Amino acid sequence: LAMQVAQSILRANLFEQTERMATTDGLTGLLNHRTFQARFDEALALAARYEKRVSFILTDIDHFKSVNDTYGHPVGDLVLKGVARILKRTARDTDVVARYGGEEFCIIMPETDAAGAKVIAERIRNEVQAAVFDTEQGPLKVTMSLGISTYPDVSREKQALIDKADQCLYFAKHNGRNRSV
Ligand code: GH3
Ligand code: MG
Ligand code: MG
Repeated sequence: LAMQVAQSILRANLFEQTERMATTDGLTGLLNHRTFQARFDEALALAARYEKRVSFILTDIDHFKSVNDTYGHPVGDLVLKGVARILKRTARDTDVVARYGGEEFCIIMPETDAAGAKVIAERIRNEVQAAVFDTEQGPLKVTMSLGISTYPDVSREKQALIDKADQCLYFAKHNGRNRSV
């Protein structure tokens, strides 16, 4: 009987682990891109049904290539983990935080208008700016640029919302970085 119970527990744990590996990013523990896409679809469907707003934030670390070049890839990874922790901590429990790809992260914020999203974006930007990463070559700091778009103000289409946030991010990059647009 004990053997059977043990095997059941083992199977359940294995299932849970497999599911976690399929939905989250191995480095940061945040949701992966595929899961982000599915959660954004869900959030937009709910917002359409209840006539609510949804805001979307896309982030990109400034000059991250030079972090890798100067401090090495492992330190770059450490920074990504640290930034992910800041995003998770600063976002609300109802927000969805994901690794969009590489050093780009994103947040889906249900029931949040553009002004509300701007407040959160600035909070995140300030937290990242204030964080100090200890490395063998001394303390390291990074900044981040953020683009924001809001459903349905910008569009009712998921891809158009992502594109608009990306355009805002591009604008932030070309207007000095370390800002949210
Ligand atoms: P910009 O301010 O314009 O964003 O400059 P940037 O150097 O950050 O440019 P870009 O966003 O194109 O750089 C992406 C860099 O992120 C390049 C790539 O080596 C690095 N990167 C992407 N994924 C990872 C990762 O998982 N670990 C590490 N260490 N680096 C990564
Ligand atoms: Mg990038
Ligand atoms: Mg970058």
